[in-house]
Amino acid sequence: MTLSKDIPNGKQSPQTYELANISETKIKNWLIKKLAEKLDLPIDEIDSKRDFLDYSLNSIEAVNLSGELESFLGRRLSPTLLWDYQNIEVLAQYLAAEIIPDSPIPSTERKPAEILPEYYNFELSPEYKQLKLQQQEIEALGLGNPFFIAQEGVVNNTTTIGDRQFINYATYNYLDMCGDPFVSKAANDAIARYGTSACASRLVCGEKPLHQELERAIANFIGTEASIVFVGGHATNVSTIGHLFGKNDLIVHDSLSHNSILQGCFLSGATILAFPHNDWAKLDEILTERRNYYKRVLIVIEGIYSTDGDIAPLPEFIEVKKRHKAFLMVDEAHSIGVLGENGRGIAEHFGIAPSNVDLWMGTLSKSFASCGGYIAGSSALIEYLKYTAPGFVFSVGMSPPNAAATIAAIELLQKEPERVAILRQRAKLFLQLARERGLNTGISQDSPVVPIIVGDSLKSVTLSRYLFKRGINVPFMFYPSVPQNSARLRFFITCTHTEEQIRLTIDALTEELAKLKE
Ligand code: PMP
Repeated sequence: MTLSKDIPNGKQSPQTYELANISETKIKNWLIKKLAEKLDLPIDEIDSKRDFLDYSLNSIEAVNLSGELESFLGRRLSPTLLWDYQNIEVLAQYLAAEIIPDSPIPSTERKPAEILPEYYNFELSPEYKQLKLQQQEIEALGLGNPFFIAQEGVVNNTTTIGDRQFINYATYNYLDMCGDPFVSKAANDAIARYGTSACASRLVCGEKPLHQELERAIANFIGTEASIVFVGGHATNVSTIGHLFGKNDLIVHDSLSHNSILQGCFLSGATILAFPHNDWAKLDEILTERRNYYKRVLIVIEGIYSTDGDIAPLPEFIEVKKRHKAFLMVDEAHSIGVLGENGRGIAEHFGIAPSNVDLWMGTLSKSFASCGGYIAGSSALIEYLKYTAPGFVFSVGMSPPNAAATIAAIELLQKEPERVAILRQRAKLFLQLARERGLNTGISQDSPVVPIIVGDSLKSVTLSRYLFKRGINVPFMFYPSVPQNSARLRFFITCTHTEEQIRLTIDALTEELAKLKE
């Protein structure tokens, strides 16, 4: 993470100076105080040289402590810190050394005298042990393993698990395109014609007419000069951001950015800063202070935020990006097909010309019933990516059935825009009923992503499992997927959910939440 990096031209940024002031002693004292609080012990009973493992801190609390430390230091940290570093002394020393570039970790600690078995046997690694601990805690609830539950058939407002049918809120199938006979037939026809794989990189021998048709359809639908498709949505962000930006550049992203955006940022080697969620005024301040230190600046936001379900104030971001001569990228994973009267996304929602955004990104796995991602923008940008982006050039082309499914879904959406209107109406009903019952829906607004925030991680697991017993399938989320102490259930509404299913769900949710509070 590069918050503490020197500015390329040698000047130190104000933020670097501020962070460098957090000394080892300050971090140590903070850790002692926090650990005492968590264990309900007097401060003088915390020994900074005692192994973290010797304190009976459960793994979720340990992960949460990393999260609090993250807020204290103002930068991203690994959630496994308390497993990676033995005790408070060592952890504070590591963190201080990382912040202050000219105080290196003593070489004796950098080079372990002994090569421990955990360095070459993965079963013994702290990361794996942490995973096992978390699994044990969830198992201890006695509610079964909530992960990797196989679902039969096409999943939309309902799903079949084993031989039981559930009302389902765990699918991206917002518009019921996955499973639609028109879309499935297109995929089947493509298999009959081309087989199941592109069998090579498109640059060399993997190109099919379908790929060209798909990229034209996406560009036309969004309203840009051109587009490029990658085989994964996550890979689209990693490969594009990681490739286009470098060490003399600055990337400023929303604090709730998806993991794929963050991974792209890390890969790029650019200086990375987060601005508070949707806070374009703060972004403006950051750029006023720093714009001139960098060559290129990329601002990354999302159309609809995938964990909170609110919409970015795009017009304000466009104004800021223009004034500071920056690039703007919008991840429309959850807003394409969903926002705007015709599902053309956040630009249609705000009535904005698509040319105001430099990089439109979206996934094909949600409204488009497929797998993969796209970048849409100017011909120059797309041509450059097609010839140079590693995740495109050195990866197989999108499979013919996946490409054909998306083309068909876009066609169908244009013929049946009422799917978008129905989705909007159902999502509105869910949010309205949840609010009427006093459920905490956070900042969700005008979107089919509605969180029910419960705070405590184990509570979110328990609530999800209780609803499952009642025939409702909805996943939980906790730190590090969402900020700590804001664990939640995340409901994805689809256009196939009926009013009756929504009412029944809100009733069950209210009852089960009340039981948890008792
Ligand atoms: N961006 C956002 C905002 C996402 O929520 C996701 C995952 N749903 C992705 C990118 C990655 O997309 P995919 O799952 O299609 O790889």
